[in-house]
Amino acid sequence: MAASSERLIGGCLCSAIRYECMEAPCDVHYCHCRLCQRAFGNVFAVFGSLPVSALSFSRGAPQLYRSTPYAERGFCGTCGTPLTFRYLRSEWIAIAIGSLDHPDAVRPEVHWGIESQVPWLALHDTLPRKPIEGEPEYMVWRQPPE
Ligand SMILES: [Zn+2]
Ligand SMILES: [Zn+2]
Repeated sequence: MAASSERLIGGCLCSAIRYECMEAPCDVHYCHCRLCQRAFGNVFAVFGSLPVSALSFSRGAPQLYRSTPYAERGFCGTCGTPLTFRYLRSEWIAIAIGSLDHPDAVRPEVHWGIESQVPWLALHDTLPRKPIEGEPEYMVWRQPPE
């Protein structure tokens, strides 16, 4: 199943939001950073990027949450599914790969935010593992007080 030759469509859990990728997401990556962990309520996120102009919403539109002064995250206002990440004013947007109808159509190429990977998560692959430190989104975010 070649990602580039099939329609990459997806949406949220409740189907209030449906989208289509006009090109295959690139830079597909795991992100183990603390922001993604919080945003997904999971221990990592998987994202792929495409030009903003190549992402088309055929039904509904995500609500946007500005997670830091640098970035906003899109989610379904009805069911809460995380859907997008975008640095403000960037020409690129990342989609949550798990929201694709066929998430197996793309493959992660790298792990980001490896300093926050939980030790019990067993991912036995040979992909590059990189820290997230230095990313503006990560630099300014502060965890809520205990
Ligand atoms: Zn929904
Ligand atoms: Zn992240």
